[in-house]
Amino acid sequence: MAQCNINGVQILFPFQPYPVQEEYMKKVIECLKKKVNGILESPTGTGKTLSLLCSSLAWLESYKAQQQLNIIQHSSNEGAGILNDIKSVLSGLVGSWDSDSNFMVPRIIYSSRTHSQLSQAIQELKRSNYKHVKSVVLGSRDQLCLHPEVSKAPNHTAKVYMCRAKISSKTCPFYMNYEEKILSKAEYQDSSVLDIEDLVTLGKKNMVCPYYATRYLNSRADMIFTPYNYIIDPKSRRAHGIELQGNILIFDEAHNIEGALEESMSFQLRSYDLALCITEVTQTMEMIKDFDEKFSSSDTGAPDFTLTDLSILKVMFCELEDVMDKEAAEISNNDGSKPGDYMIEILSKVELTAQKKEVVLDLLDKVILYHSAKSDNPWTSKGTGLQKFSDLISVLFSRTSSGGYREHNFKKEFSAKYRIFLQYETTNKSQTTIDPWAIPAARSKKKPSWKLDCWCFSPELGMRDIVDRGVHSIILTSGTLSPLGPMINELGVSFPVQLENPHIIKDNQIFVGVVTCGPDGTPLNSSYQNRSNERYISSLGRTMCNFCRMIPDGLLVFFPSYSVMKSNVGFWEENGIWQSLSGLKPLFMEPQGKDAFQESIEKYYSVIKDPTSKGATLLAVCRGKVSEGLDFADENARAVIITGLPFPPSMDPRVKMKMNYLNNIAKEKKGLYGNDWYVLQASRAVNQAIGRVIRHKDDFGAILLCDNRFKDKRIQSQLSKWIQGRINVFDSFGPALKNLSSFFKSLDQLPRRTKQDSALGGFQIGSRVFNAESTQEAQGNTSVPGIRTGSSEVSENIFDSYKHLNTVGVSTSNMNKSSSIFDALDDQSQPSAAQASKPISLAKYNSSYFVNNDCDSHVPSTSEKANDSKRRKISVQLRQAVQPDDKKSVTEMWKSYLLEVKTLLGLTEQYGKFCSSVKDFKTSKNVENFAISLKSVFSAVPNKSKYLQTASLLVGVQDRDKFLALSI
Ligand code: SF4
Repeated sequence: MAQCNINGVQILFPFQPYPVQEEYMKKVIECLKKKVNGILESPTGTGKTLSLLCSSLAWLESYKAQQQLNIIQHSSNEGAGILNDIKSVLSGLVGSWDSDSNFMVPRIIYSSRTHSQLSQAIQELKRSNYKHVKSVVLGSRDQLCLHPEVSKAPNHTAKVYMCRAKISSKTCPFYMNYEEKILSKAEYQDSSVLDIEDLVTLGKKNMVCPYYATRYLNSRADMIFTPYNYIIDPKSRRAHGIELQGNILIFDEAHNIEGALEESMSFQLRSYDLALCITEVTQTMEMIKDFDEKFSSSDTGAPDFTLTDLSILKVMFCELEDVMDKEAAEISNNDGSKPGDYMIEILSKVELTAQKKEVVLDLLDKVILYHSAKSDNPWTSKGTGLQKFSDLISVLFSRTSSGGYREHNFKKEFSAKYRIFLQYETTNKSQTTIDPWAIPAARSKKKPSWKLDCWCFSPELGMRDIVDRGVHSIILTSGTLSPLGPMINELGVSFPVQLENPHIIKDNQIFVGVVTCGPDGTPLNSSYQNRSNERYISSLGRTMCNFCRMIPDGLLVFFPSYSVMKSNVGFWEENGIWQSLSGLKPLFMEPQGKDAFQESIEKYYSVIKDPTSKGATLLAVCRGKVSEGLDFADENARAVIITGLPFPPSMDPRVKMKMNYLNNIAKEKKGLYGNDWYVLQASRAVNQAIGRVIRHKDDFGAILLCDNRFKDKRIQSQLSKWIQGRINVFDSFGPALKNLSSFFKSLDQLPRRTKQDSALGGFQIGSRVFNAESTQEAQGNTSVPGIRTGSSEVSENIFDSYKHLNTVGVSTSNMNKSSSIFDALDDQSQPSAAQASKPISLAKYNSSYFVNNDCDSHVPSTSEKANDSKRRKISVQLRQAVQPDDKKSVTEMWKSYLLEVKTLLGLTEQYGKFCSSVKDFKTSKNVENFAISLKSVFSAVPNKSKYLQTASLLVGVQDRDKFLALSI
């Protein structure tokens, strides 16, 4: 444990901090002492989270010491002289002191995007010297509810209201006396840091509701961990009882904060939602009617609203539906865009105004509670529609709660900062997110469905809402915030403290290459116009194959979007490239579903962890879960390939409107123009993805930017500062491959594993594992190279023996070990790192698809010559191989033959079939089947007799004529 003094504050750090960490902590202390905001960038792997926690908590402890002195001084005048002296020293350390908050200590609200990121921060806290600090992590009922019925409710709204009903009816055993139980259980008192899992475990053991436990523990915590949408979304903030005044707000992983702020102030209304509201109100009217008839004399369980209240609500919804249907009918006459204050105007037509919002919200709350509690049918919507409408009103009128509200200003603000878009939508789409059993009958099928989006384009609105609540300081931090200027401009509040830290690693730990073309010279460019170009997709696949051979362990490949990833994979599957890739390392794809995602990632990590594996390749998307916050330290990612620039969809109305909005305000605010913002969105997403590769000071890896647009200096200038000075641009493929190979060879740390092919097991798309059975079934029972079948084993082995070959196609290892093709196929010995990283030469094959896709055909002239001579030597060997005269030349002959066959057939289905035929013959000795099978394998090859004649050497002299007769 090291102790360091930063700006007068004593900070305990687990080790002597590095200069970048000291610089970072200095800035944190500066923010807290001066009570100002800070925006601090420090690349992933520089110990940002640990520095942030230690420095802020060290400052807080000093602050608390000063507060205790104030209390002592307040209660006694004795020793005032000494106390004054100490107090003046302390106030120099902790900064300005608020005279009217002498006894209030700020709390630190540490937020990040997801609970898994919060868990990582909590782990950092646990290994620091501040683990004694009382902390709590906030979660939702989705994660924390233990009630068997409530926890299975179909959605969050239903859980909230069902929980409230259970509490009011005293029927949740976990809620009963939960405060006393917490006070009496040492586990709750002694543990300073309780994360979600801890709370759930303790809750089950002690019959204490974890959700309400967090709310209780919140009151005594000095540090609160929470997802940042609980802070920026005013509804969530209220629901979780988060108090901002006087507290320190830390937003970690804040690179998406502008988008999250915009989202929290945006809302959507669909025709389906209104119809659902009408249905739910009608159902509640029915419930009340029954209740009045049966229990009119009793007060028990009586609703605290009347039929008249419900009638008013129903009329309002019906009128609103009418107004909106008429508006939607006009869509064909305009482009659907509406002025920013459109929604205020529409609601005023049904007499719903800011002045009435409290009354309406209160009534909606009561109706939702009643509806969700009294619905016996588990398939009913349980107030979902009404809740959505209630949220809409809360957001729309959120700024009218402050004392200085003026209707004129309110409308002006909406006109300036919102853009609205009304469009038709298909019925099926509109109903996908809500329980189909609850589809309201009230809406006529003849009426077209519509959707109204109210988009807030000013993150400033949400940021100001937070600042106006009197926070002590706001610290935004991430590994990828730069360029800082545009971000600060968009947020609209001042950030006097700023930092852009360099990376902690040395130059030899990172390789950054812009790869402008594939092995066949095809330009790599994933622009919208080019991304369907089959030649490009094929070249990109072959680029990946080549790099995959060089890269040890884990490889992450990022695509601009799911649709691009899926279409590329579809093409590669149809054309054999997918099989090649999966033969090199097991392949995983990032799925969109939450459960499937978790399963895939766990499998990826476990394959990487397997000491016998070759590593794995994970195909993912920029802005997806893999690119945001998952840890891929060390062998989990030795390289990141970026296959394109993930620009937002330019035809999306929201994107178009945002760009127009920025263009309109750019001049007056001197801010970003629409185009600048558009490019920035892509480079930020790229920065986030490439941030996966270096996770700590000893980590190393490569970043391969496989799109020629990365040559553009403007794009490069928006990449993270720490890679900008390290970018190598390659105008041809050979040098890129060579440099990448040299990079990995130069690293002493290169993992040296005992890799055996036997550990590899097929590949996976999402949760679907492609194994021998599934693939054979899908492909008409034909074996595929790289898939785990008898033949796949062979093909993998062939690949390894292929890797042993030196530049003239002759094996440099175990030459004397193999004496036949069977031995060559079975040879599982591992090449050295240097051998494994040699480029593999593939001769051109006349299949229409692979024409000009030779991996090395476009490397510079010296390599071309080397490869040409390699091919010539191979064919010479084959011609001479008819009567090999010793064991060594037999080995060479068969290895060369395998190489040539592999080169000839490419990594296709036919090559897999060839391997399995040889393997089968080894065990069955069935000459007839072997001949027929190889006949089919070489059927499309022009000079097939040459290959079949050589293959005939495998059968005995007595059967050779039979073999040749059947095969040629
Ligand atoms: S009190 Fe807790 S356990 Fe009970 S229903 Fe509510 S959230 Fe669930």
